[in-house]
Amino acid sequence: MKKITKTLSKNVGVFLLFFLVIVTLFGIIASDSFQKPEEISLRLLAEQINEEKIKHITVRGTEIEILYKDESKAVAKKEERAEFVPSMKDWGAEESKIHLLDVDYQREQDWSPLLTLLIISLPIIFIFFIFRSVFKQAKGGAMQALDFSKAKARLVGDKDDGKEKISFDDVAGLEESKEELKEIVEFLKDPKRFLKLGARIPKGVLLTGAPGTGKTLLARATAGEASVPFFEISGSEFIELFVGVGSGRVRDLFNNAKSKQPCIIYIDELDAIGRARGAGLGGGHDEREQTLNQILSEMDGFQQDTQIVVLASTNRPDVLDSALLRPGRFDRKIVLDLPDKKTREKMLKIHSKKMPLSSGVDFKEVAERTPGFSGADISNLTNEAAIFAARKRKSKISQSDFLESIEKVLLGPERKNYTISKKEKEITAYHEAGHAVVSSFLPEAEPVRKISIVSRGQVGGYTIKIPSEESRTKRKSEFISEMAVLMGGYCAEKLAFKEISTGAVNDLERASKYARKLVKEFGMSALGPVHYGGEKEHIFLGRDMPSEKNYSEETASKIDKEVSSFIREAEKKADLLLKKQKKSLDTVAKHLMENETIERKEYEKLIKKETK
Ligand code: ADP
Ligand code: MG
Ligand code: ZN
Repeated sequence: MKKITKTLSKNVGVFLLFFLVIVTLFGIIASDSFQKPEEISLRLLAEQINEEKIKHITVRGTEIEILYKDESKAVAKKEERAEFVPSMKDWGAEESKIHLLDVDYQREQDWSPLLTLLIISLPIIFIFFIFRSVFKQAKGGAMQALDFSKAKARLVGDKDDGKEKISFDDVAGLEESKEELKEIVEFLKDPKRFLKLGARIPKGVLLTGAPGTGKTLLARATAGEASVPFFEISGSEFIELFVGVGSGRVRDLFNNAKSKQPCIIYIDELDAIGRARGAGLGGGHDEREQTLNQILSEMDGFQQDTQIVVLASTNRPDVLDSALLRPGRFDRKIVLDLPDKKTREKMLKIHSKKMPLSSGVDFKEVAERTPGFSGADISNLTNEAAIFAARKRKSKISQSDFLESIEKVLLGPERKNYTISKKEKEITAYHEAGHAVVSSFLPEAEPVRKISIVSRGQVGGYTIKIPSEESRTKRKSEFISEMAVLMGGYCAEKLAFKEISTGAVNDLERASKYARKLVKEFGMSALGPVHYGGEKEHIFLGRDMPSEKNYSEETASKIDKEVSSFIREAEKKADLLLKKQKKSLDTVAKHLMENETIERKEYEKLIKKETK
């Protein structure tokens, strides 16, 4: 697009220049032929003929140009039809005197020859220019699509890349992943050392992890650490316009890379091309298959001394074609986790490196409040904080800016003009208070960090709990507690209003999902340690679809019974607890209605007061 506008503006420039030249030429010629000498009447001309003052006369159409003997000039006009000699006679010139005149008859010619030529050629030139520019653009477009040599692979580290060179220091956490990549860095730094000993370096490394966990960042950092060229291309960029372009691009990308060894090729979003072939839905995508095959054959074609490492990333390793993962291809897999608290703290430091911070900023607290945030979310958060501070015309970013941005990143911008009725507010307050109270009185549940009934994004209110220690395995009792907390909102509504609103949909859905997992996958129910097949996300539809049932109808109904008994258990737990802590529930709900949000310290104070 940029290129097109560039050529267009260049063409416009040429046009302008061209016109300027034409106009000046016009001016010069016009001034020459139109700046006429004094015009005299025919009567006067006749008199002057009789006086023999005239040296020469040129008749051109209606125009009579007169050159006097004293070299001065004049013009006169005659009738279109009238001939020169008779009309002079009519005006009283003597015939003998007329015959003495030296008269030239020229054909009528208003424009000088040069001008005529220009006028005739002008449209031709004009059309020529238009055609040329149109063709140029069309050709440019086609060339862009067909020009594999500029396969859009970006060479990071080049001067015109514009991006800073980054190293592992710019990547917070991910220590194990870095450790694994260090081997590759060492190889790329000094390939001969390894090749001499006959070592074969991994050809392909697959980086997997949730979106925003730093796959791209880590790949770039690897190139930065090794100071080698970095060819970056996104899987989705392969699939474009014409069939055959993708595989052509791959071929060219690898050829390019071969001329710049040692180097790294980075294929982002590998799943865009590397999905399992022939998976049905979406029609047989020949193009994708060809591209994928080309990648595979390029990687197979690596010699023992090829100094190219292919990094690829995906957040859907489960959908990749198994051929990609075979030995000699992407046989190394590095899993990038979401950052833990400490890593988030480091990320905050990295991302606010260039920001002026006020002394009260405590990244530990911010990190504590942002579980589940990815690296990209943290980067977004620091940016939001800076924007908040700038909007308040502060010169430094303070802790409150960071804290305010958390919810913005988490739930989207505050819905300021969304007003809820008093009743609605009351229900929401009891609902959220219910979650919170259940959470703080269950031994297994997580502490409450913030409760709010300010609606943001899609949710009406929210309660933020934070696991005190981030653990990967969960015990059954923890699941039950978590389900009880989820049921807390529902039960509080039931307790306070004797009826239930639709606000609990999400909670019920999540609780049911938990329960189903407990029974079917974790073997935590009376059905025993049997895995009944989980609900897998559908490859193409991107949503849950029950996997093929590998159990009988009888078992199915048993599962349903178990699931509902788990939910009932959680409900009962929440009910009992809320009844016992009704005072706390009322206090928290009332406080919420008044203040809309409650922070952790305040919340703990409220609860303490009630339980004393
Ligand atoms: P992915 O490719 O996994 O989707 P990116 O590598 O594009 O994610 O990460 C997006 C942004 O998030 C990065 O540009 C960086 O600012 C930030 N980020 C992600 N992970 C980290 C990390 N470990 N340390 C520092 N910043 C990170
Ligand atoms: Mg990425
Ligand atoms: Zn809820």
